[in-house]
Amino acid sequence: MELRVLGSTGMQVSPLGLGTVKIGRDQQVKYPTGFTIPDDAAVRALFDLAWELGINTLDTAPAYGNSEERLGQLLPHKDDWIIVGKVGEIFENGQSSFDFSAAFTRRSVERSLKRLRRDYLDIVLVHSDGDDMRIIREEAVCDTLQQLKQEGLIRAIGMSTKTVAGGLWCVENMDVVMATYNLAYTDELPVLQRAAQLHKGVLIKKGLQSGHAQSVEEALRYVFAQPAVHSVIVGTINPGHLRANVAITERILAGR
Ligand code: NAP
Repeated sequence: MELRVLGSTGMQVSPLGLGTVKIGRDQQVKYPTGFTIPDDAAVRALFDLAWELGINTLDTAPAYGNSEERLGQLLPHKDDWIIVGKVGEIFENGQSSFDFSAAFTRRSVERSLKRLRRDYLDIVLVHSDGDDMRIIREEAVCDTLQQLKQEGLIRAIGMSTKTVAGGLWCVENMDVVMATYNLAYTDELPVLQRAAQLHKGVLIKKGLQSGHAQSVEEALRYVFAQPAVHSVIVGTINPGHLRANVAITERILAGR
């Protein structure tokens, strides 16, 4: 797959990225069917296949169980991937909690660096709890990410938003937004359009409606029809699905 420049970040991402929730967490997830977290050999094979198919972009988070550690341990060509990480949400003992303070943000980024075995993080997004504007107005997380970027620990910053207002603020003030956009949910379209005007990076989550899409091809066509979209982060632990998703993406982007 041909890589695309992610907004004004200078980084190049594959149009299809790999989401890694299912590599680290099987509790309190909203997929249509239950699943077993794959073992190390299966995860290694999945990463090898993704790389071979031209995927260079991975999405992870401290809230995805041990996803970060597994990336650090199992990823081939570790420094060549664009890894999208997050701060703010913690998932422990089967429960989510949130901390958007300056001290926690810094500790979280330092912990992600260790877990991912990296000297810097490519992209770090605020993992919103749903109340984007409260986080933006009242919490220190955005300023702290900005400082960490200035210190050279992060290359680009943004927010995985859940509201239009939050998404618009993000594209006005940060480098990258991760927005939800799919056949069944188009509310955040104004965020994509504004991001394109401002040359900001756009990553899409839940493009397949978290597995509830009727047709993967129809779902991906719909998302890629938006020119603002740089990469659609699709979560899969099934190598057959990964191959199919890449083939469909290549067909769509070739105009077929
Ligand atoms: P998604 O990518 O829309 O859907 C993933 C589901 O679709 C999985 O259950 C997967 O099952 C299934 N799937 C994938 N390809 C398929 C195919 N070809 N045929 C049939 N089923 C297929 O939803 P998501 O996982 O909720 O979101 C994607 C990623 O975005 C996540 O992995 C995560 O990295 C990120 N995300 C971020 C946030 C946030 O707040 N920041 C929230 C949600 C998600 P199989 O494993 O069986 O393929």
